[in-house]
Amino acid sequence: MELIKRRGALVVVSAPSGAGKTTLCHEVRRLVPDLFYSVSYTTRLPRPGEVNGTDFHFVSEAEFLDMRGRDELAEWAEVHGNYYGTPVKALEGALSHGLDVLLDIDTHGARQLRQRYPEAVSIFVMAPSMKELAARLRERNSDAPVEIARRLTRAREEISAWRQYDYLIINRDVKEAVDQLATVIQAERWRTSRLTLKFPDVEVPE
Ligand code: 5GP
Repeated sequence: MELIKRRGALVVVSAPSGAGKTTLCHEVRRLVPDLFYSVSYTTRLPRPGEVNGTDFHFVSEAEFLDMRGRDELAEWAEVHGNYYGTPVKALEGALSHGLDVLLDIDTHGARQLRQRYPEAVSIFVMAPSMKELAARLRERNSDAPVEIARRLTRAREEISAWRQYDYLIINRDVKEAVDQLATVIQAERWRTSRLTLKFPDVEVPE
């Protein structure tokens, strides 16, 4: 049997702030080879340690709105007062090369992507409880109490969208959650609808 072609899988991960999604996405990229990470554009300022072009493309609001006006974003959303969006060119370039693409985007963006790419696979990540989510946000120590309260209110809204996703991962333990995410991605790679095969000695329909 010969694998002629495999179309890349689009893997969308969403989670409320504090559920540990950034760490999961980072760790899973070390575990699963050939996974293209979609670097978003954002108008928010870089956090300490974040690298322009690797974590995000940091742009001004005018630049972001120009891109949006030119239809260069596959989806976009306003999150916590800043704009975020996925560049369509990088995304489609990776998919057309058969690469799987991992996107870390909010629930509004995920909804837009599912409409545009119905074959997208979506995964919702949650902390074990709201109490735990609040504790993680406080431990992170990077946000003021009023900002934490805002994130928790938004978390409740986001959690209510969990059924719109194909998979749910409850992040109790990072290693376990990373393994679950990797398993989903590896399984999606072998979905028959993405494959074109040729057998040497038997005719099979496309
Ligand atoms: P943060 O600023 O904390 O890194 O991300 C805030 C939120 O924006 C997260 O929920 C993250 O998933 C989301 N986000 C990051 N990039 C994008 C994007 O390109 N599009 C959308 N819709 N959301 C994004």
